[in-house]
Amino acid sequence: MSDIDIRQLSKSYGAYQALQSIDLHIPDGALLALLGPSGCGKSTTLQLLAGFDTPSGGEIRAGGELISSPQRVVPPERRGISLVFQNYAVWPHKTVAENVAFGLQLRKLARAELEARLSRALEAVRLTPLRDRYPFELSGGQQQRVALARALAVEPRILLLDEPLSNLDAHLREEMRFEIRRVHDELGITTVYVTHDQGEALVTADEVAVMKGGIVQQLGSPEDIFERP
Ligand code: ADP
Ligand code: ADP
Repeated sequence: MSDIDIRQLSKSYGAYQALQSIDLHIPDGALLALLGPSGCGKSTTLQLLAGFDTPSGGEIRAGGELISSPQRVVPPERRGISLVFQNYAVWPHKTVAENVAFGLQLRKLARAELEARLSRALEAVRLTPLRDRYPFELSGGQQQRVALARALAVEPRILLLDEPLSNLDAHLREEMRFEIRRVHDELGITTVYVTHDQGEALVTADEVAVMKGGIVQQLGSPEDIFERP
């Protein structure tokens, strides 16, 4: 079980309260979009989910385990969480396989286990035939799939995507949106997807949390949210 339970979560930067008091339950296997304008607290929420920062109040539980509170922050590498940033950085001098294996090498895995996980991650994004290529030999979409595979290789319980389509041209946006949806449907990883784009949230997510001024204003299916006036 990798549901996420956020209770009365708040975060202040000095006197400024970026998150007021957020309550949000993300069911196991859901694909939830955090939607809202710049400054509403989406990144702050994601940082707290990832374990990069300490909340000022409240708590986050993943699969029942307390992972964040003002007193307790389980470090990022022990949360079973992977994060994909919007720039999808890949190392130009490493092959596809080396890029994807990077996060695994930090863990002390047996060689066979490392290879098995690498193979599964490459297969999940359909990059197995390209495993020995270098990034310059790949299309833009393939490079982004490398970054996605790197996040999947650690076999996270939870996948966090930070504006995953915002820096891409229209064609790549479509390709990656499809890819994220497909990977989610195949692997069933609980996924939190941050975006400021309504249309994107509508077509990608199963559930949408609309944020404004550090609170969750609305929560529901894309149809619920967008059919209201
Ligand atoms: P979003 O991701 O929705 O654009 P953020 O979570 O990044 O919003 O920011 C929410 C608010 O908190 C913004 O007003 C932002 O300026 C402020 N903020 C974010 N990080 C910091 C920080 N490290 N120090 C001070 N203020 C911050
Ligand atoms: P060079 O040695 O040519 O300066 P680097 O190997 O330092 O290049 O980095 C090359 C590229 O790899 C950079 O453009 C950067 O985006 C990416 N990169 C470097 N470090 C990281 C990292 N920790 N995570 C993801 N990408 C990285």
